[in-house]
Amino acid sequence: MKVRIAFDDHDSPIYGCTTHFTALFIEEIRKWGKVRLLDFPYLVRLNPNIPWKTRGNGSTMIVVDYRGELDELLDLAWNASLEYVEEVSKAKLYDRKPGVAVGIGDPPLFELYKKAVSDVVTLDYAFRLASKLGILVRGDRGVIGALAAMGFSGPYTYELLAYRRRENWGRFRRVDPKSVKLIDVIGFPHTFSNYDYVESKPLIMPHGNDPVFYGIRGTDPALLERLAGLIVSEEKPDFSRIFKTNQSTDAHLLSPRTRPYSTFDGIVEVKEVKREGKDVNIWTSEGMLIFVFKETGELNQAASLLESGDVVRVIGAVKPSSRYGRVIEAERFKLISLRRRVSLANPRCPICGGSSESAGRGKGFRCRKCGHSFSKEKVEVERSTPLSLSWYYSRPLRHLSRPIFLRI
Ligand code: ATP
Repeated sequence: MKVRIAFDDHDSPIYGCTTHFTALFIEEIRKWGKVRLLDFPYLVRLNPNIPWKTRGNGSTMIVVDYRGELDELLDLAWNASLEYVEEVSKAKLYDRKPGVAVGIGDPPLFELYKKAVSDVVTLDYAFRLASKLGILVRGDRGVIGALAAMGFSGPYTYELLAYRRRENWGRFRRVDPKSVKLIDVIGFPHTFSNYDYVESKPLIMPHGNDPVFYGIRGTDPALLERLAGLIVSEEKPDFSRIFKTNQSTDAHLLSPRTRPYSTFDGIVEVKEVKREGKDVNIWTSEGMLIFVFKETGELNQAASLLESGDVVRVIGAVKPSSRYGRVIEAERFKLISLRRRVSLANPRCPICGGSSESAGRGKGFRCRKCGHSFSKEKVEVERSTPLSLSWYYSRPLRHLSRPIFLRI
């Protein structure tokens, strides 16, 4: 029978990663002989705004053909989980709360997935749903992510994850940047988010102690294998695994809301634009405050050019704020309409057409060319703006954000 096995919360801030555990678990069940993997393992990213995530809020799922008792499979998965969080990731020491779920067939969990990817789900609700649908679960908060991973369906991409040998965990990741640039050039647009051309640095390596050496993202698993073979590094990966994933699909926009920690997607009118250091704060006519942090690069630059009356569609994270109640941290916006940019200028001389200067307060204007004095209203002069009616993205993209060129 077809069975889904899903996991979450197996890492800690110092070691481990739920994908690493999943890749090891696949090897373990292969040896067991009672299961056959039916698909790539899944890496399902959930709400990027959840405060209790460790890094990228990733959960995992595998789909297998299994002959045996479901309880036995759950025991096997849960024991493997406990061993990993105790021996490898030390997750319990950091109050991580692993969870496992095992369910037959294709449980109807898409609505839960939709909520988990853009809003907050309670553990109580997750447990009740599992029991109603006959899904076996063990553990704690990780059950939310595990069930949500089971409910994933929709567009997908792939990520090849290469893992490090244990003796290298915590060491600086040395990869030849030229080789990363090369794979990006060869693979584009079927691979992406590998190299930052503005900062001139590879993006494929994480920075922490986790066992991931690098990850290459794309739409074609065979290409990812080929590109991994071109990465130049003295450190040899321990092993690698390709995951099917909702990364780069905009899944967090499936059901936007305005509650704290959810994803916001709405149209607003700009009322006032203020700079605070290098950050840009936009007050809207609807009374919202939108932060566009300097780290967003081009998005921040574009935001600083907005003016009162412009209308924008904003996508971002809703965050609670003790000062303002609720704020939006923008990840991209689309300019819907631009108000005419005009400034007031001194009028031209009615005699010779020359430019004029003020003749003093309340005394009208004096022509710079012929000296004629006259009184007239200031005139409106249209200004140009580099902004256009299109999308502006943050330079660093969130795991779930779809790159603008990607068609999936
Ligand atoms: P890694 O990327 O290494 O897996 P992480 O950042 O994914 O680390 P997790 O260990 O997965 O962090 O922790 C996230 C926790 O938040 C999990 O327990 C998961 O069940 C829970 N969670 C995920 N999404 C939601 C949600 N929408 N509502 C409530 N809890 C959630």
